Amino acid sequence: MTSTAYPDAELKDGVYYHQFDVVIVGAGGAGMRAAIEAGPGAKTAVVTKLYPTRSHTGAAQGGMAAALGNVEEDGWEWHTFDTVKGGDYLVDQDAAEILAKEAIDAVIDLENMGLPFNRTPDGKIDQRRFGGHTRDHGQAPVRRACYAADRTGHMILQTLYQNCVKLGINFFNEFYALDLITVKEDDGSTKVAGIVALELATGELHVFHAKSVVFATGGFGKMFKTTSNAHTLTGDGVGIIWRKGLPLEDIEFFQFHPTGLAGLGILLTEGARGEGAILRNASGERFMERYAPTIKDLAPRDIVARSMVKEVLEGRGAGPEKDYVYLDCTHLGAEVLETKLPDITEFARTYLGVDPVVEPVPVMPTAHYAMGGIPTNNDGEVLSDNSTVVPGLYAAGECACVSVHGSNRLGTNSLLDINVFGKRCGQNAVKYAKSADFVPLPEDPAKEVRELVESIRSSQGTERVADLRKTLQDEMDKNAQVFRTEETLTNVMGTIHSLRQRYQNVYVDDKGKRFNTDLLEAIELGFLLDLAEIVAYAARNRKESRGGHMREDYPDRDDANFMKHTMAYLTGDPHSPNPEDHITLDWKPVVMTRYQPMERKY
Ligand SMILES: Cc1cc2nc3c(=O)[nH]c(=O)nc-3n(C[C@H](O)[C@H](O)[C@H](O)COP(=O)(O)OP(=O)(O)OC[C@H]3O[C@@H](n4cnc5c(N)ncnc54)[C@H](O)[C@@H]3O)c2cc1C
Repeated sequence: MTSTAYPDAELKDGVYYHQFDVVIVGAGGAGMRAAIEAGPGAKTAVVTKLYPTRSHTGAAQGGMAAALGNVEEDGWEWHTFDTVKGGDYLVDQDAAEILAKEAIDAVIDLENMGLPFNRTPDGKIDQRRFGGHTRDHGQAPVRRACYAADRTGHMILQTLYQNCVKLGINFFNEFYALDLITVKEDDGSTKVAGIVALELATGELHVFHAKSVVFATGGFGKMFKTTSNAHTLTGDGVGIIWRKGLPLEDIEFFQFHPTGLAGLGILLTEGARGEGAILRNASGERFMERYAPTIKDLAPRDIVARSMVKEVLEGRGAGPEKDYVYLDCTHLGAEVLETKLPDITEFARTYLGVDPVVEPVPVMPTAHYAMGGIPTNNDGEVLSDNSTVVPGLYAAGECACVSVHGSNRLGTNSLLDINVFGKRCGQNAVKYAKSADFVPLPEDPAKEVRELVESIRSSQGTERVADLRKTLQDEMDKNAQVFRTEETLTNVMGTIHSLRQRYQNVYVDDKGKRFNTDLLEAIELGFLLDLAEIVAYAARNRKESRGGHMREDYPDRDDANFMKHTMAYLTGDPHSPNPEDHITLDWKPVVMTRYQPMERKY
């Protein structure tokens, strides 16, 4: 039977069945960039839990890196080097080279699509400084970030969406993908047949039968309390992949952005320091001069975040509790703030009642970016081990790990990543869809999702989602943030274990079908708990300090033992009490081309 709501779908046993060559999960920058490539060549659908222009890409402020050399000399090789060094040498260097080389076209593509970048007086795309981006291998900061005031992500997202609309891409908005349909072949290999999604407005289930599936579901900063991430960044896509038995790479590496509004975590872009803002401690000292004498406040984020926390721990913090430092923009002048950094100026005024034009802004690090995620090769193909491709399955953007960011992403390299690898995923997904047949759907492909949804909806349990989530976030902040030790990680693993048990007993007040956000928050919490366990477990296993992962008990980088990617696999009953019983950690070599690991001085 066809349905009236979806004339192209078939309605069978209460489930809508759609068929598309390419299905993209996520309508952030990565998903929509992929859609623009896929749409013209294949029947393409984008399935997204948010209305596209509400995706977190729209919150990105500061800029997108590309060595255009518009305002001073620059080149993609310098950009590659900075990316590798910024990532503390855990970056796959072949991938970083692609990122830096294809950056130029990525910006020009956006310009041609209509993105209103800020301009130089002679009409070129203007560029500004950002942390870790340097001239000639670390000599001095370079102007590499293309930007549209401090609303670069907003402009990217709107531009991509307009182009998707122009191409007639099919959007399924406010549809929550909850499962990937895979089929195990006789030879043990995994094939992809589509996804299952829940429609928010009706609570109905939809099966999307597809030849190619692209995951572009973004990050999972919501496992932390203090975070720049939107409420919706709960790692659903990464969690789905994990539950399917596919590995996750470098999941222990999370970036803490230095300048979140103190106590709130709302982001103030690094573009502020790119324009000349300075970090100061309680006595007004420009403390980054001590930690990174050459590039000071424009050192990579891991170094700046650690330095800030150190200042506070050593008693040089500001405020009544001495628990934050200051971002001083006062010398930039009202005009620069109002024209180049209008949004963050407003954020400081609105949320802290502090006017950056005349007074310094209280800031502290905030959980910002997942370096790890779904392992892919340089074509965006998802891997089921260190090298085997899952045919027809792709991932791009923050949910993926190519790995271009290694253990610490440079600012402005994510907006770049979503454009470069989003595009590659889209192109390859079409190519695959043209050559492959549909993998037949298994019997009742929506069964697992139906059972998951029903078990939560009908639960007579006593645990509330908000309580569990709050405990998770508080404990992750306390134990797995900028500084970590064996003890703190073991602590938080204990908490996560007990939360996972309590989660079995979770209930929701809303038992209805329509717009049941209660139910979906419960499901999202399940993904967060799964991922937090792997983060803590992999972090405890990495007995060294590298990039965003700082172990106080192992303060040095240990290349002899840990110059390798972590690969985590689900290999046992996920409910078993000890992670040892269901998570297996393995390693994958880092691809090195031209740069040997060096001491990381700035
Ligand atoms: C405040 C802030 C400022 C930033 N500033 C910069 C910057 O200046 N420069 C820079 O390079 N980077 C910046 N970043 C990082 C960068 O913006 C993000 O990493 C990047 O935009 C992520 O893009 P994405 O397409 O991977 O995911 P997102 O834009 O987060 O989109 C995820 C998509 O997945 C969908 N989705 C998720 N789960 C499901 C599900 N279960 N079913 C269906 N759909 C689902 C959502 O609906 C959404 O459309 C910033 C990040 C933040 C938080």
